[in-house]
Amino acid sequence: MRVAERLEVDQGNGVFTWQWSRQPESEEELKEWQECKDVLSTNGFSVKAVKKSLIVERGTNHPPNFTWCKWVPIKCNITAWRGNLDRLPTRVNLRRRNVDIPSVMCPLCGDYEETVDHLFTAYSVAIRVWSAFNVWCNIPPLFFFEFKDILDSHKLIRNGIQAEKIFYGLVIIACWCIWKGRNDTGF
Ligand SMILES: [Zn+2]
Repeated sequence: MRVAERLEVDQGNGVFTWQWSRQPESEEELKEWQECKDVLSTNGFSVKAVKKSLIVERGTNHPPNFTWCKWVPIKCNITAWRGNLDRLPTRVNLRRRNVDIPSVMCPLCGDYEETVDHLFTAYSVAIRVWSAFNVWCNIPPLFFFEFKDILDSHKLIRNGIQAEKIFYGLVIIACWCIWKGRNDTGF
């Protein structure tokens, strides 16, 4: 989708006419839209400015890099890497890509939208996976609120760099298990 297809510049006063395929609804979308409008009104339209504001925004929400874990299977690394970029096809992400799906709500609890953060930190199976994981690794309970908390959790391990690396790999495998479990249930 090109910017030119999204916007129509009103010749007289330079007002933008938004042409949505779907109105922005969620808090995040509305916030992004507002920021986009702010960029347009202060700078006039500039691809560079929009790009810059998007990069700055991303930087606050996601760790800039994903550290590949060499000893776990590639498919597990890819799942965690995509989760980190919020690029896993959860229901919310499918709708964002204009895929026609009946609902974006979490198929299990039905109380929240199925986002990456919800699926990996609040979804009932995920909670059980993490609590079993705690017990198995013999560490105090871990509390995750966002996907990036999961990928940062190895930093809490205080048994040396080797233990940290092993823990990081196990976390990545657990993420893959959660994603696989979610897909196997037929969603
Ligand atoms: Zn749920």
